Amino acid sequence: MRLPNESEGLLRKIVESVPSGILLVNTQGNIMLCNSELEAMLGYEPHELLGKKIEALVPFSVRDKHPAMRAEFAAHPSKRQMGAGRNLTALKKDLSEIPVEIGLNHVYLGTEMYVIAAVVDITERVRQEERFRTIVESVPNGILMINKFGKILLSNTPLEKMFGYEKGELIGQEVEVLVPTRFREAHPQHRRKFAEEPQKRRMGAGRDLTGLKKDGQEIPVEIGLNHMTVGGEQFFLASVVDITERKITEQKLQKAYQEVQQKNQEMEQFVYTVSHDLKAPLVTSASYMDFLREDIEEKNFEGIHDSLMRLENAHRRMKDLIEDLLQLSRVGRIELSDETVSLSSLLDDVQESLKEILSAKNIQVETAGVDYSIRVDSRRMYQVFENLFMNVTKYAADGPDPLLRVFTQRTDNELRICVKDQGPGIDPVYHQKIFGLFQRLDNKQEGTGVGLAIVARIMQLHDGKAWVESMPPNGSEFWVSLPLERVVL
Ligand code: ADP
Repeated sequence: MRLPNESEGLLRKIVESVPSGILLVNTQGNIMLCNSELEAMLGYEPHELLGKKIEALVPFSVRDKHPAMRAEFAAHPSKRQMGAGRNLTALKKDLSEIPVEIGLNHVYLGTEMYVIAAVVDITERVRQEERFRTIVESVPNGILMINKFGKILLSNTPLEKMFGYEKGELIGQEVEVLVPTRFREAHPQHRRKFAEEPQKRRMGAGRDLTGLKKDGQEIPVEIGLNHMTVGGEQFFLASVVDITERKITEQKLQKAYQEVQQKNQEMEQFVYTVSHDLKAPLVTSASYMDFLREDIEEKNFEGIHDSLMRLENAHRRMKDLIEDLLQLSRVGRIELSDETVSLSSLLDDVQESLKEILSAKNIQVETAGVDYSIRVDSRRMYQVFENLFMNVTKYAADGPDPLLRVFTQRTDNELRICVKDQGPGIDPVYHQKIFGLFQRLDNKQEGTGVGLAIVARIMQLHDGKAWVESMPPNGSEFWVSLPLERVVL
């Protein structure tokens, strides 16, 4: 088997001078010519490959299929890369494999067609790519590389996990799949802007960024951008960090800060009120002690009796104030317990313990829609309803056939419970005020103005609220709400 004579010398010279491995193969698959570059690349002695079947250089795993591929090329010969998109390897004489890139073409020498193959050893490039991959994979952040059209060329496992994708699933997709739909339209514009002025920077400075997971969930992210130019082409690198945990911590801190601020405010009010309200009975006592002294000197027994009675009242008032204050301060200090209790039995218990005063005031109690189990500190929740019921007995029992109704309303995120009366109602200007410490509208009744402050505090500790809806003279609706997480049934 020989090449046509007239071409051989010239061909050999050309082939030898090309800086990659060159092979010339006839239609039967015999190697007719190859250069020393190729022999060295595959570990053969000079001329050792001549006459051998090309399949000697094809790895065993694809060797069977190779003659068919050859025939296919011979039927449609054209200049092209072999095995486009696949990782090609060539078999060396020592049976090891090296990664290669192979360009194919055909030539006619005389009437005979030959296939010419240019083989480049890409071991070094593959190694570098692998090294790059290893580095990218070992970074704990999500890494994304896109081209100037926004196509994802590379993503590492942390990024795929963060966004809920399978390995390699993002490759070839547009980067916008990771952007929530409401920001998607504007995103290519941002990309173009960055491409025009690419410098290393944080994305969306000052704004909260969110990424879109495959399952539609959004996650808060922080994104660092950079760019690189390889072979004249621009690529963009994004490093993505999931900051869900950090956000949660921030929110917790924010909440704690607000709580501290609120506590401070309460403290201020407390100091003010203590000095103001606790002083009142003291001032009263002081003046009655003076009266008492005078009465004793004058032996005025009626006066002595009266002054002593007023002193006792002031003393009792002081005691009540201090006790209620202590109770309020305990609400905030003692850890909330977490029990599942039936709302209707809780209400029954309150009704039972207040049954004497309720019947003395002729108050009918009606409940509706209270078949819920709630996860609460049952003692504290009891206190809430005890306070609200007691207020009805004090402020809303004067009318004929007074009625106390308890009913509920369930919204998307909370369960609301209402204690409704038919009393005189409360002017809206006082709706907020009465939940404050020592705030009272009616001094005819016994009380310290601490009850509703305790109700509000307990509900707040349960992540809920307390408020009043009322338009005099049509009674009052005192509402408390619990988040649905605390509602079991
Ligand atoms: P206290 O009952 O010790 O005064 P609260 O904090 O329980 O303290 O109530 C504050 C004020 O709100 C009461 O003094 C009263 O004026 C008003 N109030 C409470 N409940 C009702 C009600 N059901 N109807 C009308 N007014 C009420």
